[in-house]
Amino acid sequence: MDNLITGDVKNVEELFENRWFHFEHRDVTEYIHVGGRLDGILHFASPASPIDYLELPIQTLKVGSLGTHKALGLAHAKRSRFLLASTSECYGDPLVHPQSEDYWGNVNPVGPRGVYDEAKRFAEAMTMAYHRFHKVDTRIVRIFNTYGPRMRLRDGRALPAFMGQALANEPLTVFGDGSQTRSFCYVDDLVEGIWRLYNSAETLPVNIGNPSEMTILQFAEAVLKVTGSTAPITFKPLPVDDPKVRRPDITKARKLLGWEPSVALADGLKRTVDYFRAKLALDGPASGRRGS
Ligand code: UDP
Repeated sequence: MDNLITGDVKNVEELFENRWFHFEHRDVTEYIHVGGRLDGILHFASPASPIDYLELPIQTLKVGSLGTHKALGLAHAKRSRFLLASTSECYGDPLVHPQSEDYWGNVNPVGPRGVYDEAKRFAEAMTMAYHRFHKVDTRIVRIFNTYGPRMRLRDGRALPAFMGQALANEPLTVFGDGSQTRSFCYVDDLVEGIWRLYNSAETLPVNIGNPSEMTILQFAEAVLKVTGSTAPITFKPLPVDDPKVRRPDITKARKLLGWEPSVALADGLKRTVDYFRAKLALDGPASGRRGS
């Protein structure tokens, strides 16, 4: 199910040939009815790029709160396992580094990012309440920065922004002085971690992300290298409440799931740039713009 406000049905196009695949163009904040049995519900619905959730603040709050409530209600009714896609944004602009699951975070509830952070924190609280009160079999994954093929070139996050700019030979827009850090995980590693968590018995949140941390300036330079671009770097104002550091402590995932990321940044970037090059060749430079 997807209402496609930030997604693209082209990303699942090849699955339509599979008779076990079914797609519903629907908003999960409204009542969800599904006939028959449901083994599991994986609730990933939400804008996830800061630019998207600043443009869609009410939808972001609604999908994290009402959408999670509806999805949990369905899990309860169908007695299905439920997994919530939560986020490292629960830690806000963290005062503890790296972030382990027992850190409660430093979130500004009334800042512009609060619409995403607080919706996801509420979603975690709601998931635990359904687990404790209704005995729903729940899982919570806290996803850290992720990248890879099928992102929208213009979704505003650092990786697609830098890649689109590098490939068009336009200046790479680094926000602030670029000294803020992030830790980027390749999508295949993330999916494997989430699948292991789904199949485990752990009901408290688990961080899934890559602990290899770098500054955003270093990240922009890595994108220039992999694309072979000679585009310059330009500095733009830092968004409000942009976290200064971020790195997952993945001790829990290592111990519990035997999981750690295996794709090196250079490999992951190479696979991603190959995808973006092919997409640009196919769709032209406007590809990835919302609604296209
Ligand atoms: N960023 C940047 N230039 C861009 C987009 C993002 O310098 O064009 C920075 C942003 O300020 C943040 C980091 O890159 O410090 C990661 O941003 P992103 O939007 O990917 O996700 P976030 O980690 O902030 O949720």
